[in-house]
Amino acid sequence: MNFTSKLPDVGTNIFTIMSGLANEHNALNLSQGFPNFDVAEELKERVNFHMQNGKNQYAPMAGVPILRERIAGKMERMYGQKVNPDSEITITASATQAIFTIISAFIKKGDEVILIEPAYDSYAPSIEICGATPVPYSLSAPDYKIDWEIFESLITAKTRMIIINTPHNPIGKTLKKWDLATLQRLTSGTDIMVLSDEVYEHLIFDGAEHQSVLRFPELYQRSMAVYSFGKTFHATGWRIGYVVGPDYLMKEFRKIHQFNVFSVTTFAQYGIADYLENPDSYLSLPNFFQKKRDFFAAQMQGSRLRPLASEGTYFQLFDYSEISQEPDTEFAKRMTTEFGVASIPVSVFYTNRKDEKVIRLCFAKTEELLEKAAVLLRKI
Ligand code: GLN
Repeated sequence: MNFTSKLPDVGTNIFTIMSGLANEHNALNLSQGFPNFDVAEELKERVNFHMQNGKNQYAPMAGVPILRERIAGKMERMYGQKVNPDSEITITASATQAIFTIISAFIKKGDEVILIEPAYDSYAPSIEICGATPVPYSLSAPDYKIDWEIFESLITAKTRMIIINTPHNPIGKTLKKWDLATLQRLTSGTDIMVLSDEVYEHLIFDGAEHQSVLRFPELYQRSMAVYSFGKTFHATGWRIGYVVGPDYLMKEFRKIHQFNVFSVTTFAQYGIADYLENPDSYLSLPNFFQKKRDFFAAQMQGSRLRPLASEGTYFQLFDYSEISQEPDTEFAKRMTTEFGVASIPVSVFYTNRKDEKVIRLCFAKTEELLEKAAVLLRKI
């Protein structure tokens, strides 16, 4: 059969490749972003309880009401924004699905979408499949600063959406109040929508506050923000996330959501709702992950891999230029096969494959594993 691929340049994604290589070579897997420790016992118990007690048929399309109410409570407590649980929240089958659905719902052929690179690898293909063009704004190591004047020059009459991600995967930087205020000003009075990927909202360090679009009432009116229970509750395999946005945008989102997912695992939603009742379930996370970041940094003292600042997420970047000048994809492979630690090369997050000799390691791991990895990495 003859056909032309809708995504001719897309191959297997880097997370699948590096995790596969790690397994094949028995390497410590600090590549794909997932914890090697388990979900809290209490959360497992609540999910199990609801499965055992009949919550096994379709959930309402937008998600079970009690979960949406708990999310609304969390959003108001965290960001001071009142969101209507009926019309402004939808539970999704992962944040990746939420992102794909937002883009499908609003982006048309010929549109332009600005993304900040390095960018999460699903954004550009999701835009291209709609016949639209990703317009990258490229950040540079080591401080990955946004120059908003240059950013503004990328906005054209065709710009329909801007995608932001804070705390940012893979660089671990956070957007500041001023960044969001600038974005609000730049998009004010335009038809440009903001997709705000906030899946690492609770993984933020050194006492900083997460700058959600929800904190900026005017910006929120043209934004959809995406969140993840996988990242928040150490349950990346459950594939459950949610979207928050004003009702007129959510209406469009649900038109697509109802046909590609319809609704998400019912008993898991009830279990998560119970667990969310206690705000400690998420308020304890910055401290929990900051300890891991600092533990790993201390263990890496003496390594020739030079750490870059990590303000949030569970990723730490390292510059390896003192060790080698080979391309980052080669270096990451060799680090896995010869030195026994798998990482993610950062060039894969740039459409032009910009290679600054930087790799990403995930520190959402037990101290035991981080220590073992550091011993191997200090030998390179
Ligand atoms: N978000 C995860 C990461 O950045 C991976 C997600 C995936 O494997 N699709 O590592």
